[in-house]
Amino acid sequence: MGLLALGTPLKWPEAKKNADHVRQWGIEQLLAIWNRAKGKERDALRWGDEIEYLVVAVDDESKKVKLSLRQADILKALGSDEELCAKGGCVPDLQRVIRHEETLPVFHPEFGRFMLEATPGKPWGIGFKDLLDVEHNMKLRRKIARNHMEPNECPITLTTFPLLGTKESLSPDFPPSGERLRSQFLPDEIANPHIRFPTLAANIRSRRGRKVEINVPVFRDENTPLPFKDPTVDYDLHRWPEDDDVRNGAAKDDHIYMDAMAFGMGSCCLQITFQAKNITEGRKLYDQLSPLGPIMLALTAATPIYKGFLVDTDVRWDQISRAVDDRTREELGEIPLKNDRWRVPKSRYASNSTYISQDPRLRKEYLDPDLVVDEELKQKLMDGGMDDLLATHFAHLFIRDPIVIFAEDLKTLDLNKTDHFENLQSTNWQHMRFKPPPHDKDTGWRVEFRPMEIQITDFENAAFSIFMVLITRAILSFDLNFYIPIPLTTQNMATAHIRDAVTTQKFHFRKDPFPIRPVKVNGTSNGTNTPAHILSRPPTPTGPVEDEHAPMTVDEIINGQFAEDGFPGLVPLVESYLNSLNIDVETRCELGRYLELISKRASGKLWTCAKWIRHFVRGHEEYKQDSVVGQGVVYDLVKEVEEIARCEGREGHGEEMLRAWWNRGRRGSSCG
Ligand code: GLU
Ligand code: MG
Repeated sequence: MGLLALGTPLKWPEAKKNADHVRQWGIEQLLAIWNRAKGKERDALRWGDEIEYLVVAVDDESKKVKLSLRQADILKALGSDEELCAKGGCVPDLQRVIRHEETLPVFHPEFGRFMLEATPGKPWGIGFKDLLDVEHNMKLRRKIARNHMEPNECPITLTTFPLLGTKESLSPDFPPSGERLRSQFLPDEIANPHIRFPTLAANIRSRRGRKVEINVPVFRDENTPLPFKDPTVDYDLHRWPEDDDVRNGAAKDDHIYMDAMAFGMGSCCLQITFQAKNITEGRKLYDQLSPLGPIMLALTAATPIYKGFLVDTDVRWDQISRAVDDRTREELGEIPLKNDRWRVPKSRYASNSTYISQDPRLRKEYLDPDLVVDEELKQKLMDGGMDDLLATHFAHLFIRDPIVIFAEDLKTLDLNKTDHFENLQSTNWQHMRFKPPPHDKDTGWRVEFRPMEIQITDFENAAFSIFMVLITRAILSFDLNFYIPIPLTTQNMATAHIRDAVTTQKFHFRKDPFPIRPVKVNGTSNGTNTPAHILSRPPTPTGPVEDEHAPMTVDEIINGQFAEDGFPGLVPLVESYLNSLNIDVETRCELGRYLELISKRASGKLWTCAKWIRHFVRGHEEYKQDSVVGQGVVYDLVKEVEEIARCEGREGHGEEMLRAWWNRGRRGSSCG
């Protein structure tokens, strides 16, 4: 979640006064990076993954599970483990699982004081040996994390803790409603105590002028009362002025109501960052991966419970979006514009709104007609030599105010640093992020793919990571074209929230992903002597944009349509890419296991985590078909999730999510 600089943070009114200052300096730093790095070439094709964990404390005697707020102690234990740092030898058995030599994972803090984040110690290459090390490395991370926790603690990879915001769900416990979050349900101690995090939460609230407001529709089960009024909301609380929010209608009927940043940013995801060989390739990847965002969100759906209730959505995205939504009433369009500059259609955390590639296939009709841009900053970027598209992208990100400003940083502008630029960049949480090189020589232009939900097992997390790497390779190798109008991606993102979207919904997707096909004349390639690479160079498409895309199921997008001219499917495209390479049978088979998971999740043969969790809750003996998910259910759920992470579909644990993969090994196939 960005670098943890230290200093004296400005409270909101002061920060607001300095917002322009930070933006101007951020743009100067961006231009400095641009001038230094725009011609950077031949960077290695590398990638990295980030896994976020919840830390739970389990009490087997009382059958209770709570969130452990010991992030700082755990990170300290990890950081001061010299032997670990000197190769992991301190942890029994570790040597056996270390295959990616020298790659000991790195652990990082996250927003929630109950979260951990882990990355591989160095970026992955795109060689197949590296791909096959990913799962082992993820397992290693989990194991190392666990070994630095108390015996009753455990890292789990659920997106959200089902009881977050309910009474007695924290260890140690704190009473709610502190000065920063002013939440009815959560204490300020829920956030990482590093000054950046509580300041972020407090200043978002102050800028917005009221608390953040998250309403998720309740899942209507047989005994769910109708209308449903969130029974945990206290309408009589009078501690802070913000407590009036609920009396003014913040908590909606038939919804679960939440009121603090931690309800969103306390969620865990799986992010992948790709380093491109140069800026052109980076810009292309940014655009081409963007339409895949909602599809991968739906496919990784894992979030059916909030604050002790089953909800009627399956993913975390909109909840985080609302949890950091700092827009004022004017920006939201609730009252006429007076003090603010624009109406702003999306939260800072939202699907992305720009395309940036100078690709002739990018039609202006695809761009977002509602895009808000700071024209003055855009002009400054263009005067500094940046092209229109990229200047538009950054001038769009820079419509936001910087939320956390340290007084010390306002004194001098250092063009060898990127702090002011990063201030805005890293608090624009869009589903794609385009990352310029920092000052070190080794890092190039990067693209981060951010929508995926974390999965219960390392096998799944590896599968989704590897699939994304392979589709990226296929995009570049076959020059694939997934462009659709941006508003359709925005719409797809909303669709991805619908319960069981994978099997019940359709998403807008481009019908023909191939570059212009060579025209066959008399059985030969167009009959001219034009070299093949020129033939396949993609011109700007013509004809109605509406004809370029169609609604498709996730199954069709991932596995392909049967019709002759139908969409070929992302997994078949990856398979063609693999077939075009010289890979040994064993590697192909190993990769096949991962692709099989993706394919079967898409077809519904295997369930999403969200579907499995919902099913587990609804079948639990303590569940009363009233949407309430109590301590007993969550205790068993967490125990089962731990078992699944260990067994990965074997021995009857999580079979519906993982069975095919396990059975395949069981049949004794060559990759069993
Ligand atoms: N945890 C956040 C999510 O689930 C992302 C935070 C980050 O950017 O690292 O999307
Ligand atoms: Mg993170």
